Amino acid sequence: MPFSSLGLSDSLQKALLNLNYKAPYPIQQQAIPVILSKKDLMGIAQTGSGKTASYVLPTLMNLKDLPSAKNRHIRVLVLVPTRELAIQVETVFNQFGQHVDFPFKSMAVFGGASINPQMMKMNQVSVLVATPGRLIELKESNALHFEQLTMLILDEADKMLNVGFKDEMDKILSFLPKKRQNLLFSATLSEKIEEIKGILLHEPEVIKIESEEQNLDLIQQTAYSVELDKRGPLLRHLIQSKSMKQVLVFTSSAYQCDLVSDKLRSNGIKAQAIHSRKSQGARTSTIEAFKNGSVRVLVATDLLARGIDIVNLPFVINYELPRSPKDFIHRIGRTGRAETNGEAITLVTPEDEHHFKVIQKKMKKQVDRIDSRDLDFK
Ligand code: AMP
Repeated sequence: MPFSSLGLSDSLQKALLNLNYKAPYPIQQQAIPVILSKKDLMGIAQTGSGKTASYVLPTLMNLKDLPSAKNRHIRVLVLVPTRELAIQVETVFNQFGQHVDFPFKSMAVFGGASINPQMMKMNQVSVLVATPGRLIELKESNALHFEQLTMLILDEADKMLNVGFKDEMDKILSFLPKKRQNLLFSATLSEKIEEIKGILLHEPEVIKIESEEQNLDLIQQTAYSVELDKRGPLLRHLIQSKSMKQVLVFTSSAYQCDLVSDKLRSNGIKAQAIHSRKSQGARTSTIEAFKNGSVRVLVATDLLARGIDIVNLPFVINYELPRSPKDFIHRIGRTGRAETNGEAITLVTPEDEHHFKVIQKKMKKQVDRIDSRDLDFK
């Protein structure tokens, strides 16, 4: 099915062509017509499935038919869990928004950055991408209004279910007009997501896109047995011996994340850490440096890695295992995306053996094993 059969404007189709999007991904094929018909939608889809464009494109089409909103009146609100995702989603709105024939402005707002500049830039914004806390602050400062809102989108809702989210959500919903279109995206289904679905969505269409588990065949996986104190040297050995130019390394805490990246740097390997204790500015420039190749190794924690969108990442290394098998699958799914091959490497210490067994069982895959004692490294 080509993009031309989805009811998008010529200029948006041209923009897609310029981006070299040749055909719609499954989520786009299914979600775009539903959103254009102004129905509520629940999409179960992972990052990497093309879900951002699946709602950005029809949202722009729907905005086209509306008169401009009053100043500081938001038309579309997108709620996201992290600053990184806020920036990423806003970038996609901005990218396609340049190709519409009506005045369009989008903006991302998030905590951890000063609020005043965000307030000043709110003029004429029609699509606001926000993290919940900052949105409430802005509303309570009277910096924006929602009477003319037509659409609410929750993206990566499963990552928003933190403590306090329910109260934040209730508050935000109390600001919004009752009549509106609602879209809910989540990578996973759970009782809590079902609950949000019940509260938020009215007779929704439900779209479920095959999970990364079914795409695991594209990823070449290897596990290395290693003693705890040999993990660092093994990591360096793998990076060097496999001539990795761009590799995402996962750790389980901000502390380890810094430690690993410091150690790599002291061994002459260009590495940067990204985790929740880094400032917003540092995170943005780190991601940029990783994308443009000036940083070779990005060491990350699970939450922060979600917002990093790099297609065709050739290598992912699990320096430490994540607690949940789902996170493991999500991590390795960062490689082998968009139908290209990638390699995922997992370091397994004796203490990890049991947990790694559980993970392999969950993903229904036995990973090839190499004993690092057979390798020549110091
Ligand atoms: P997302 O799941 O929204 O994070 O998108 C994953 C990646 O796929 C992004 O880098 C998009 O630019 C890219 N992408 C989305 N839709 C298409 C498409 N139809 N063809 C090619 N690339 C796409």
